[in-house]
Amino acid sequence: MGQRAVVVELCSVIAIILLMSEGAIVRRDASCLNIVTRAEWSAKPAKQRDNITSLPVPFVILHHTYIPKDCNSSEECKEAMRSMQHMHQDLRGWFDIGYNFCVGETGEVYEGRGWDIQGAHAPRYNNRSTGICFIGDFMNSLPTPEMMEAAKDLIKCGVNRGSIAEDYKLLGHRQVRNTLCPGDTFYENITTWPHWDPLQDVVPVPKQ
Ligand SMILES: [Zn+2]
Repeated sequence: MGQRAVVVELCSVIAIILLMSEGAIVRRDASCLNIVTRAEWSAKPAKQRDNITSLPVPFVILHHTYIPKDCNSSEECKEAMRSMQHMHQDLRGWFDIGYNFCVGETGEVYEGRGWDIQGAHAPRYNNRSTGICFIGDFMNSLPTPEMMEAAKDLIKCGVNRGSIAEDYKLLGHRQVRNTLCPGDTFYENITTWPHWDPLQDVVPVPKQ
């Protein structure tokens, strides 16, 4: 083998190694390092954590919180997360805050139950969806562009890390439950998002 051939050979070996490590890097990036962790918003421990039994999940379900109202600083949003956890865990008796993730007005993403854990946000869909809440009331206004971008990035990250199916269906909460969530104005908007699906699967809930 001439010197030139050795160099070419070496180059292709290096290229293969680079390609392989590139793959590894992509997977690591997919862990979404910009998420505000439970420790950072001072979450209480979950009373129980049930893994989603079949991954990746085929649905992403979007919510608004209605209450608490919108938060526009890290401190306000962390407080909103704690108030939701208190409401869901202590008053409703759930294991933890209901959502997998929440997004605040500045575009920060907050870890709720997190990836691959069953939420309590959409009965019949908790074991096959990622539930993302937009903190605020979006009946008559849209979430900020930062919030919507953040949620779209989060979904992409979920697909990259193998938590959300590549051909996932995006739904608003009202499509699977008799509720106004995620608000009229926001719901109209998400019908234009990639992967939105017109599915209607509302089961009538008996009056209490
Ligand atoms: Zn909802």
